[in-house]
Amino acid sequence: MRNFLVAGNWKMHGDEAANRELVAGILEDAPESDRVSLLVCPPYPYLASVASQLKGSPVALGAQNVSEHEAGAYTGEVAPGMLTDVGCGYAIVGHSERRTLYGESSAQVAEKMAAALGAGLIPILCVGETLEERESGRTEQVVAEQLGAAVERNGIAAFASAVIAYEPVWAIGTGKTATPEQAQDVHRYIRSVLAEQDAAVAENVQILYGGSVKGDNAAGLFGMPDIDGGLIGGASLKAADFLAIARAATEI
Ligand code: PEP
Repeated sequence: MRNFLVAGNWKMHGDEAANRELVAGILEDAPESDRVSLLVCPPYPYLASVASQLKGSPVALGAQNVSEHEAGAYTGEVAPGMLTDVGCGYAIVGHSERRTLYGESSAQVAEKMAAALGAGLIPILCVGETLEERESGRTEQVVAEQLGAAVERNGIAAFASAVIAYEPVWAIGTGKTATPEQAQDVHRYIRSVLAEQDAAVAENVQILYGGSVKGDNAAGLFGMPDIDGGLIGGASLKAADFLAIARAATEI
């Protein structure tokens, strides 16, 4: 049976004091469960201080992005080894904001996944379609292309050490959540694509849902057979909201 992962993507929000308060709030009330893990992904400048605050706690630390390069003349980039160095265990790759606002291609995202894995980070590979792609019946095609590039570059076995997040672009930060059935359909599809190459890897990989998850819709989503937790944006910025989602996972 797969465990749940509830991950907070703080995006470009917060400052030192606000982050400290948020982490303190999460640590104070985090549900204890063998089946539910928590992860927070603060902005780069705060990773080290959040890492020291999380020390000794079961809450994991991740980055929102990572360079595809190990080191070198890449101004403004952060290497995967730097992330492990400051205590990260995870790195999000291919978030839709990176793909659309910063022009990251599926091939580049696949390289980022490779670099993350090479440094011992667990990549969280984000995939998902836009509203226009969904309405024109291309959801599976888009997700297959994004996933396929990562499988081709990294091999199916890499997904034994990776997490996937299905995040329909139209549901991110919009308040429009995919219904549990809509999300489940795509999660099942993702697992079936992986299963064509390796049934065991497909069965074991965690597939998170992301897109306007809140305390009051989390249980319906997490109750679906192929949904193994959430990648949470807006609702991860308040400890009570984030923990309500985590608690929903513990009750499945
Ligand atoms: C996200 O940024 O990954 C996300 C899912 O955001 P929100 O929860 O705000 O829709």
